[in-house]
Amino acid sequence: MDSQQASRHVAAEIESVGTLMRSLSGRYEGIFAELATTLHATLAQSGTMVEAARDAIAITEAAANSFRDNIPNQPAPACSSGCSPCCHLYVQVPPGIAALIADHIEASFTAVERAALRERLRVASDAFRAVPDPARLRLRCVLLGDDNRCTVYEVRPLSCRAFTSRSLPRCQQVVFGDAPDGGVEQNAAHFRIHTEATFALEQVAKARGLPSAQIGLVVALLEAMHEG
Ligand code: SF4
Repeated sequence: MDSQQASRHVAAEIESVGTLMRSLSGRYEGIFAELATTLHATLAQSGTMVEAARDAIAITEAAANSFRDNIPNQPAPACSSGCSPCCHLYVQVPPGIAALIADHIEASFTAVERAALRERLRVASDAFRAVPDPARLRLRCVLLGDDNRCTVYEVRPLSCRAFTSRSLPRCQQVVFGDAPDGGVEQNAAHFRIHTEATFALEQVAKARGLPSAQIGLVVALLEAMHEG
């Protein structure tokens, strides 16, 4: 092979891999389009918003697990059980999620635990109401147990599921330290999966003529527990 043939051979090899990579890039984007379509079609058939929230969580969990197990080069999270800085951030929920959590609490908490939780919710609600921007307030989540584990883990909000971090020091800096306006680098695909589910719940509520905006978890849960 002379140098001209060698050059053509190398260039052709790179061209063929480039074509393959472009095609894979389109397939990768297609994952999210398919997820959105599937979420909207499935949630549209859910009988109630609580069922829609349960279905949204099931689909996002399957999607996130499959991503973790099958897509290479996913960033390794620093998150672990009992690690809870992010549980001091302001959490918002789309329609259906608070009612799902309230049902779970009704079924799994004792009457004494529910009364204590209602009181913590009232205190937290007052604290959020007292500040101009609740998103800047750092408050221990009322659902965080004494062992720093979520007491409603199975039905925790989509935003809690979406949040990942590669660095505990960065989380501590943003939540408790000197970078309150900074961000924590997220696993983009994992975050996007949960954003799609949040949007789908908003859209389903809107299509049913229900309030569709996200609201703070504390206010939403207090209302849902009063209704329950
Ligand atoms: S709902 Fe659970 S996971 Fe979410 S902030 Fe509260 S304790 Fe943490």
